[in-house]
Amino acid sequence: MKGSMMDYPLTLQAILERIPKTYPDVEIVSRLPDGGLHRYSYLDFYRRAKALAEALHRAGLQPGDRVATLCWNHSAHLEAYFGVPSAGGVVHTLNLRLHPQELAFIVNHAQDRFLIVDDVLLPLFEQFKDKVKLERVFVVAQGRQLPPAMESYEELLSSAKGNYEFPRSEENDAAAMCFTSGTTGNSKGVLYSHRALILHALAFSLPDAFCVSQHDVAMALAPMFHANAHGLPHVAIMLGCKLVMPGRQLDAPSILDLFSSEQVTLATAVPTVWAGILEALEKAALEKGPARWTIAPKFRGFVGGTAVPEALVRKLDARGLPLIQVWGMTETTPVAVCSTLKSHMLEWSEDERYRVRVRQGRALPFMEVRVVHDHGEAPWDGTTLGELHVRGPWAAASYFNAPGTEDRWTADGWLRTGDIATIDAEGYVQIADRAKDLIKSGGEWISSVDLENALVAHPAVREAGVIAVPHPKWDERPVAAVVLRADATATPDELREFLALRFARWQLPDAFVFLGELPHTSTGKLSKLELRKRFANWQWNKADAI
Ligand code: ADP
Repeated sequence: MKGSMMDYPLTLQAILERIPKTYPDVEIVSRLPDGGLHRYSYLDFYRRAKALAEALHRAGLQPGDRVATLCWNHSAHLEAYFGVPSAGGVVHTLNLRLHPQELAFIVNHAQDRFLIVDDVLLPLFEQFKDKVKLERVFVVAQGRQLPPAMESYEELLSSAKGNYEFPRSEENDAAAMCFTSGTTGNSKGVLYSHRALILHALAFSLPDAFCVSQHDVAMALAPMFHANAHGLPHVAIMLGCKLVMPGRQLDAPSILDLFSSEQVTLATAVPTVWAGILEALEKAALEKGPARWTIAPKFRGFVGGTAVPEALVRKLDARGLPLIQVWGMTETTPVAVCSTLKSHMLEWSEDERYRVRVRQGRALPFMEVRVVHDHGEAPWDGTTLGELHVRGPWAAASYFNAPGTEDRWTADGWLRTGDIATIDAEGYVQIADRAKDLIKSGGEWISSVDLENALVAHPAVREAGVIAVPHPKWDERPVAAVVLRADATATPDELREFLALRFARWQLPDAFVFLGELPHTSTGKLSKLELRKRFANWQWNKADAI
């Protein structure tokens, strides 16, 4: 027997329509390219997002058509996040850190019809515009003069007459699209439904996850061009919290200026961004005079995308910026797992609590996790390694137009993540490594992530990357690439002894190579692919071999 409830779809239009009557006056703040701040109200945002929807409809947008964005995080990008899907279209965020050739491939593969682009990103667009077939390009000038031949985003909005009603979308209709960042292969497109975005936002906001409320001041610090900025824009607009966007000024002092001036209480970023923030805070603490930045007392940071070192969590705690770790992927909208403590853990010792917080965490409600190894599903014992599988209402069931990728899903409908993990008896997932990054030495596995996280706890180490290098006797052995902090020194022997406090001798890197910087992917993660290329001609000399 069916329930007798209304057929009321979970859509972004429903979120938008709450604004005029519920929280019209809440502020949205964006950093402009010249460093100034743009402020407007939710009501202004609502009117402009609706004008965008109408204007796109007038321009011939059909249901399911893709509208690409090539933008930093700011209010016009937010308008596209909501205006495009509310007109029945799909907002396709382009990652501005990709190579122009890859961007051309992605635009063509997605069959984008229109593009919204920042004027400051026109030089990038110029590099691939002849390789793509876009019907119209709208330039966001943010108060500046446009080149004469260009069509402006403001003109597009002014073509709206104001008597427009959003079309009804079904909750399973596509609303947004994002390509994976290709850390481990070619980019593939994921299409997010309205329903997935909304259920993700609801689960993200739960007290056992980020405990978000209208009282929060949310900062979309993770790029809006990757994995929905971790979902924060949808969460903020759904709940009506003040929203802050940093534009293109992503240096730590500029971020801290906004944390302080806007009294931000919630922000999402990858570990490297948090590490930069910590460094800026540590530097500022050495200066004489009044504190440069005041962090809001309720502040908490969301960290994910790659494992977070315990040393970073401890040091940011001490400065009033506690981090909560999440695990997710472009394919999971992105948050699937979140590491908050259970009530009985509050009684545990500080060290034990940190050990839980640096695990990736428990699956959010409706997200299921399992670890699978050669003999089937692994027990939840915290030690048995296998591949992490996930399923749930905001996990992708396929890639966009990508025949041959079906084996990413199991016959019983789970997404194979490519991550090697354990799950403990409390339900906490711990990622050991990506399958490709685990080091196989003499038949035993070594986690590159564990070594990296331990290395950055050394006071002289700024960043570390550990990779497997082929070895004639042991199959593979770990080599560590290390970036030292400015003015700090350390020798390979010192680092080896430091690691030996926590690791067995056979797990220690055989060589330490000091570099000026490490390669990163377009989303700020350490690029193991690049690092492996750099070490492709590695020769074990006698001193290095064991
Ligand atoms: P890409 O795979 O191209 O890097 P994604 O941003 O989708 O693009 O990355 C998803 C992957 O990032 C996961 O499969 C996992 O390997 C890694 N990841 C995400 N969050 C964490 C985390 N908290 N700890 C460790 N790894 C993480």
